[in-house]
Amino acid sequence: MADGSMTLAFTSAVEAETAAIWQKVSARITPMEWRLQAPLIAKINRLKTEKNAVILAHNYMTPEIFHGVGDYVGDSLGLAREAARSRAKIIVQAGVHFMAETSKVLCPEKTVLIPDVLAGCSLAASISAADVRLIKQRYPGLPVVTYVNTTAAVKAETDVCCTSANAVQVVEMVAREWGVDRVILLPDEFLARNVARQTEIGIIAWQGRCEVHERFTVDDIAEIRASWPNAEILAHPECPADVIAASDFAGSTAAMNDYVKTRKPKQVVLITECSMADDVACDVRETEFVGPCNLCPHMKRISLENIYQALLHDRYEVTVDTAIADRARAAVQRMIDMPPLAVPARYDMVKARHHVDVELI
Ligand code: SF4
Repeated sequence: MADGSMTLAFTSAVEAETAAIWQKVSARITPMEWRLQAPLIAKINRLKTEKNAVILAHNYMTPEIFHGVGDYVGDSLGLAREAARSRAKIIVQAGVHFMAETSKVLCPEKTVLIPDVLAGCSLAASISAADVRLIKQRYPGLPVVTYVNTTAAVKAETDVCCTSANAVQVVEMVAREWGVDRVILLPDEFLARNVARQTEIGIIAWQGRCEVHERFTVDDIAEIRASWPNAEILAHPECPADVIAASDFAGSTAAMNDYVKTRKPKQVVLITECSMADDVACDVRETEFVGPCNLCPHMKRISLENIYQALLHDRYEVTVDTAIADRARAAVQRMIDMPPLAVPARYDMVKARHHVDVELI
């Protein structure tokens, strides 16, 4: 690295400064790795204080980021709420670009940095603002609910945003308010199919996919059952509907986190991005995390090294056109203003309406 931080020494001062973090991450990080990571973690945490910065770390960040330097950690909804509340001058988004845009939309007066501008998302890339405008022409009078995994320009064309944690709640709320029995839910086809099974409201869906979750198949679930017959299988609702139906539980990353922390199953499989299991495993030592996972290449662009460079050089700043930001903010704010759920929503596997289908655009 240009500033030589890869060669920082693991001194006794660094060891003492990072001892509490090491206690937590030692479930998933080896001592050899830690000796390389701890000096940089200590530097980042000092630099944050000097610059009045906070780091928002998504559940798919690796443990040295999530537990080591994240000030606020969680899912997209939780991070959006924290961005809105934060008093810091600088927000570093340890996540992907649409999340940084959401932070900028909610905090226009703050500097929002993303450590790697190429940290994108297959879902966000699947739909444009022009697509949404055409959809609205095709379905006049129907509300548009958009998943937060979209660009600010797409959110600006939207009536209200949702996350996988509150999608059912948002769809039902907006249908009630508009007095309609169908809602357009963009852009994740599988999330839309899974929401449709949880509500009487008809769903019109786009064919966007998360490249991490679309790869899980029902055969994977069968193999997991054969290999670990006692493991509880928790799946993310961006997975195909048959994967969800074959699992024991489905919910957002927040809901999966809550499930493991409250129930502490003996063995569990998290059907989602790989770092999720590593991060939860640092907190829940009683549970054994087994089975396959898929990596998100976009999330994995974020590292301690580029977080440090982002803070040091105030790069890469994320900006959003003011007119777009104003309209996008209204859609995100409507979601944030909804009464929070007492416990993270789960996709009810028992009551699911398995034969219901969506109208694909
Ligand atoms: S995990 Fe899927 S939805 Fe999340 S950033 Fe990666 S591609 Fe996008």
